[in-house]
Amino acid sequence: MEPTYQPIPKRFDAQELLRLLHQQPLALPFKLAFVSEKHPPESLRRAVREVCCQRHGDSCWSETCQKVWYASLQKAHDSASPQVHLCQECYLGFVIPLFDGKDFAGFLLGGGLQETSSCQHLTTASSKKNQTLSCKDTELPATATFDETVEIAQGLSRQLSCLLGSQAGSIGLERVTKNLETARRLAREIARCASVEDAVGMTAETLAVLFEASRVLIRLQWPGQSGCTRTALGFAPGQVDLIEAALPEIHKGAGTETGCLPAELVSRILPQELQSPVCIAPLVESGQSFGFALLFDADLPVRDQLLCDLILDRLTAHLQQLDSSEKHRRERDLSTRLVGMVSTLSLVDTQDALFENLLEMAAVLCDAESGSLMLLDEAAAALSIVASRGMSAPVAQGVAIPVGKGIAGRVLQAGEALLVNDIEKDERVAAKNRPRFKTKSFLCLPLKSGEQFVGVLNLADKADRTSFTVADMQQLNALIDHAAQMIDRTAALERAGHLEKLSITDPLTGLYNRRLLESRLEEEISRSQRQDQKFSVIMADLDHFKIYNDVLGHLSGDKALKKVAELMRSTAREMDVVTRYGGEEFCLVLPGAGKQESLFVAERLRRAIEAASFPGENHLPQGRLTISLGISAFPEDGNLPDMLLHAADLALYRAKHNGRNRLVLYQSDLSQTLAPSNAG
Ligand code: GH3
Ligand code: MG
Ligand code: MG
Repeated sequence: MEPTYQPIPKRFDAQELLRLLHQQPLALPFKLAFVSEKHPPESLRRAVREVCCQRHGDSCWSETCQKVWYASLQKAHDSASPQVHLCQECYLGFVIPLFDGKDFAGFLLGGGLQETSSCQHLTTASSKKNQTLSCKDTELPATATFDETVEIAQGLSRQLSCLLGSQAGSIGLERVTKNLETARRLAREIARCASVEDAVGMTAETLAVLFEASRVLIRLQWPGQSGCTRTALGFAPGQVDLIEAALPEIHKGAGTETGCLPAELVSRILPQELQSPVCIAPLVESGQSFGFALLFDADLPVRDQLLCDLILDRLTAHLQQLDSSEKHRRERDLSTRLVGMVSTLSLVDTQDALFENLLEMAAVLCDAESGSLMLLDEAAAALSIVASRGMSAPVAQGVAIPVGKGIAGRVLQAGEALLVNDIEKDERVAAKNRPRFKTKSFLCLPLKSGEQFVGVLNLADKADRTSFTVADMQQLNALIDHAAQMIDRTAALERAGHLEKLSITDPLTGLYNRRLLESRLEEEISRSQRQDQKFSVIMADLDHFKIYNDVLGHLSGDKALKKVAELMRSTAREMDVVTRYGGEEFCLVLPGAGKQESLFVAERLRRAIEAASFPGENHLPQGRLTISLGISAFPEDGNLPDMLLHAADLALYRAKHNGRNRLVLYQSDLSQTLAPSNAG
């Protein structure tokens, strides 16, 4: 059992009594202090300092001084009557034993006046009582005679028994009512604070003002969370750091009511605070602790302790309210974030990007540093990693987990999510933690598509090194509910993309086909018109290819066509569009190239084919497989696809006509001198 701090006994309110006594003319010249029967040594020391030392410096509390006071205390206690003494320094002191009903309840100490005869050489004060008993802080110490002091002590003792009786309550009522009013007003203000910071700050100020504490510190520690000092009022720079380390231990001993920190604890963990009383006021609700407030230099009477409890109860209630609205706000934020994430994911159109994004978002949602997304390969009946975090790519690629095996394989088979706090202790897993993981907690959730489980999402290593929570799991479920659907969608998109590609490419050569050429030409014309740019079209046809086919067979012809296609692709510029126009005819679109520039490209193509060797080409009339090319250009040769193709075709026809293995630029006179081509 942890110790809890003893509240000062509630039936007896020493501070309240002191306050009342100070108003008694009899007690006026003396300094008064109360010694609790609970902690006599510290309490006595503090009291003597209060009543005596301030008058004659730090020399007090010497061994002889202690002896004198202890002797008085003892006598007062044993005789149940006031005792007066004169110390070595000629100072008068008295001790009045206090009884609360029949119970002994402590001592009232008085002191600080010098004995008249012993200080006659110091003072010119007359022996008249009213002048002698001066309590004004003058440079000379106030004086009294021993007998006068005995008289005063006895008088006070009588008054005390009266005050301790039924009248005490009503005398202090006015002050208590005033304090209660202030507390109520401030409690309302606290309840209006919109943030934890404001509420805590306002409370600290309230406590400081109401109870005259020189410093106030409030530490919040929500159940299950680590504590944090939220406000520190009146501290010198660096002073809080000195106290900070002791706060967890202080919290352990905090009970449910305001009380004084035991001197033993203060001297051990807050030695710098030995000289001042430290009050602890806990923040409790339904027996659970939410932190505490420390009030320095405040020795709270019982009523004030209750008041303090009242204020802190109000703070605790308000903090809980703020906490729950904060939770709601976080939930709202989270759903907004989720909607954002899902809509981002729905824009992704390739599977790889989707997997990466999905894992990234899941990790962000629950602060995980590592994780993986695994999909089921039905043929292999195993899970393979399609995206990973905190794991090297080659390792990830090599992983194949059979269905029903390992943690992920079992989660897939069972179709149930797994939240594990400690991999080594959880009976469902009971496996050694692998060295690459930094914590022993992880989350593993199955992905469902329709009625089928299609994969698993794994997350590990929470960034703050705590365990994953049910809340994490719920958030992830909300995200991956959409995941399977998105995986299906991107799969469909990729298939469609593949089909589309098939419809615009030529299966033999892999070049774009004539369908693509036509739409590309249209795009190029409108773009070049808009940007006032040129482009060229090259029409190319293999020479004597019929012969090549006839001599070497159709298959060799196909191989030669493939090779020509590769040469064209590698020789043309990167932005050029190379298409197979028909049988052994090719058409190229050269964006941004005028006739002169396209001439270079065309010549490179001609040479490349001429230079390349094709099996059996020696059977051809020129002994080599060659190509003829015709060139037209936008805008001078036409502004429609057909016009440009036709012009290039005429030029090609002229190239054939002129002896093949050459290139010809279209010129307008060609259309008059040559018949429209069927050049091949
Ligand atoms: P020219 O120099 O005048 O163009 O003579 P050519 O023999 O090339 O004449 P033309 O262009 O009329 O002949 C086209 C020949 O190309 C016909 C056919 O044997 C061959 N050819 C067309 N498409 C294919 C094909 O897909 N595969 C194969 N192996 N040969 C084809
Ligand atoms: Mg030909
Ligand atoms: Mg041809």
